[in-house]
Amino acid sequence: MFNVVRPDETPASLQYRKKYDDKDVYDSLEKIFFSKCYLCETKEPHDINVEHFDAHMGNLDKKFDWNNLYFVCSRCNNIKLSKYNNLIDCCDPKQDVFKAIKHLPPATPYAKKVCVTAMSHDAKTAETQELLDAIFNSEHTVNKKISGSFLRKKVFEQYNLLLDQINAYYSPVATEADKNQSLERMKVLIHRSSPYSAFIRWCILEDEKLGPLLQHLMD
Ligand SMILES: [Zn+2]
Repeated sequence: MFNVVRPDETPASLQYRKKYDDKDVYDSLEKIFFSKCYLCETKEPHDINVEHFDAHMGNLDKKFDWNNLYFVCSRCNNIKLSKYNNLIDCCDPKQDVFKAIKHLPPATPYAKKVCVTAMSHDAKTAETQELLDAIFNSEHTVNKKISGSFLRKKVFEQYNLLLDQINAYYSPVATEADKNQSLERMKVLIHRSSPYSAFIRWCILEDEKLGPLLQHLMD
């Protein structure tokens, strides 16, 4: 997961309380979420939904509350439904959602699982870990099993972009210029706007040389 900075200004269409996912809402969410699903971090997914973080259950205040609307892919939305309603909030500036849950990427393209670990024992972090585990590792239905495999393969492809830079950085023949270029590219990969940034950041955090060099950029 990645933190999102939500502007105070509410999209105009919400005041009429007719649609909660009109174009102005969608466009604002797409911008602040960097076109990424807030749960799986897939960028520009095929199907995107405007979701209620706190399930509205018919409550119109919650239904049209700008602060309750999130950008999510349809697969994650379908897994979350109203079953997971006590999650850590990526829009809360006091909550570092990236540090709350450790994500480790798959070791191979068709790895059966990825590792998502809660880093504290509070109820919200535990429930978020449970949801993310279902999103990345779900085997409940044939359809979800296939799409989970597809998702893990996409994470692996992004992880490979990082490995290219790590290999270049640690190459015995790397010059200072090569190292700097690799570091600059790693900065792109760990930016909140990049796909699967939590997986990439945790790989770097776990590296005793790269972690201290790049940790300060993991906002
Ligand atoms: Zn998703």
